[in-house]
Amino acid sequence: MNCPKCTGAMKQVDFQGIIVERCSQCYGLWFDEFEQDRLKEHKGSEVIDQGDVTLGTKYNTVDQIQCPRCTTLLTRMVDLRQPHIWYESCPVCYGTFFDAGEFTDFKHETLGDLFRRIGLKGRD
Ligand SMILES: [Zn+2]
Ligand SMILES: [Zn+2]
Repeated sequence: MNCPKCTGAMKQVDFQGIIVERCSQCYGLWFDEFEQDRLKEHKGSEVIDQGDVTLGTKYNTVDQIQCPRCTTLLTRMVDLRQPHIWYESCPVCYGTFFDAGEFTDFKHETLGDLFRRIGLKGRD
């Protein structure tokens, strides 16, 4: 499998039995359906996210990319809990692509994110 953003080779990374694909060039991460949520619950799982955040930020601006599994055009999504995190998701097979550094960010909700969420709830 090749990286949908930079065409680098994706390598399989096993974290406690959950296999994800990581790009050997830009260190973007590909998760099949629900894998990112399953991994988020595992303590220490951010070790799979080894890329340079600067590089991740650069590749974050690349869009119009195709699903590495089924070639469908990926849709840019925003994490509902942490709206500063943009990731790409496949509308057909539900795989997701996180740029380097994004999974770590996704995993650690900051106090600021929490306050924003409480603020949003308060207006309902
Ligand atoms: Zn890549
Ligand atoms: Zn797909």
